[in-house]
Amino acid sequence: MDIEKKMQILGAAAKYDVSCSSSGSRRPTPQGGSGNGVSAGICHSWADDGRCISLLKTLFTNVCIHDCAYCVNRRSNDIPRAAFTVDEICELTMEFYRRNYIEGLFLSSGVMRNADYTMERLTLVAKKLRDEHRFGGYIHLKAIPGASRELIRQAGLHADRISVNIELPTEKSLLLLTDKKKDDIMLPMGEISTAIVENRDERKHLRSAPRFAPAGQSTQLIVGATPENDHQIVRLSEGLYNHYGLKRVYYSAFVPVSSDNRLPALATPPLLREHRLYQADWLMRYYGFAAGEILDDRTPFLDEEMDPKSAWALRNMHLFPIDIQTAPYESLLRVPGIGVRSAQRIVIARRHSRLGYGDLKKIGVVMKRAKHFLTVGGRMLLPGSGRPLRLIRRDLVTRAMLEPSRQLSLFPA
Ligand code: SF4
Repeated sequence: MDIEKKMQILGAAAKYDVSCSSSGSRRPTPQGGSGNGVSAGICHSWADDGRCISLLKTLFTNVCIHDCAYCVNRRSNDIPRAAFTVDEICELTMEFYRRNYIEGLFLSSGVMRNADYTMERLTLVAKKLRDEHRFGGYIHLKAIPGASRELIRQAGLHADRISVNIELPTEKSLLLLTDKKKDDIMLPMGEISTAIVENRDERKHLRSAPRFAPAGQSTQLIVGATPENDHQIVRLSEGLYNHYGLKRVYYSAFVPVSSDNRLPALATPPLLREHRLYQADWLMRYYGFAAGEILDDRTPFLDEEMDPKSAWALRNMHLFPIDIQTAPYESLLRVPGIGVRSAQRIVIARRHSRLGYGDLKKIGVVMKRAKHFLTVGGRMLLPGSGRPLRLIRRDLVTRAMLEPSRQLSLFPA
């Protein structure tokens, strides 16, 4: 099989892995146009400094010894199979890089023969690119579930980021839909986490020590293929951030690619649910929320109508309003309509003067949302009315948040 055909098969097979980009695009090439959001090959990712970088995104092989029910590459699927050689991937990467198509490589794989055999090949690709081709671009490698400690350690010395896909939220679901064991996934994840911490310590004493996965590790979780609720998912993510030091958990709305009576019959992938989970994840990573604040046993699913921060604020109206001049930074972060940058700017600006509503707008606060939760100069103003709000009615604020374009009275009739 020629390399172009392999690229077609393996680039397309990689599109379900969202650990480096968003999922769910259905945009085909427009007539007479160029670009295609469906077929894969090159994807975009974001570097730590916020730069958007293009990556060659492909599988090493779509041959797989496993039979995960949700996966297009599962052993029992009758699909064209292909495998690159180590040199082919290296040459493709370098060719694309020289032509300025890409700045890096995202390399995942099915499991060919066994975990170590595949992991060894992925590691060799990264090693050859670094040592022989002197490639300094970004490399993201998948760690193969069940791969040995030594290979994981080798991979991290050449890759910028490593990720091992957790796939499903519970061991029960993993056992139901795959023939993989929880330890096959958690042990490499633990190994990467330990190696990153050890490497950080080592480099404190010896700056020249080689770096291990400097862009950290991430994982991917499929949403909607199994019955777990959002509360279980955000708690799992919280645990992964806290105990394994993950940089990112990616959520991938379940796309039914093969028929299997163990899987739910979904008409469309649950993309809104995926989006809400990303918002909840963002709250945990940047806004200091704990999973138990976002959801609990009584509220196990994220509100589809409203973002999780607004939903939390409306459940906790007794904590509001807060005063813009005196509220601690952590409380400002919890106001719907105030983001991290705005909260930082408020803290700096209020050192020098008393802030008014006009200042908040200039700072970037989304007043349509924030106005329900703030006092400015001790007064909570209704838009346009100039009257103090003495009584907040949760139901009315909820309506106002859901219908931001309509002007509603927040005073009870
Ligand atoms: S191990 Fe990975 S590639 Fe293989 S069937 Fe399972 S999810 Fe698909």
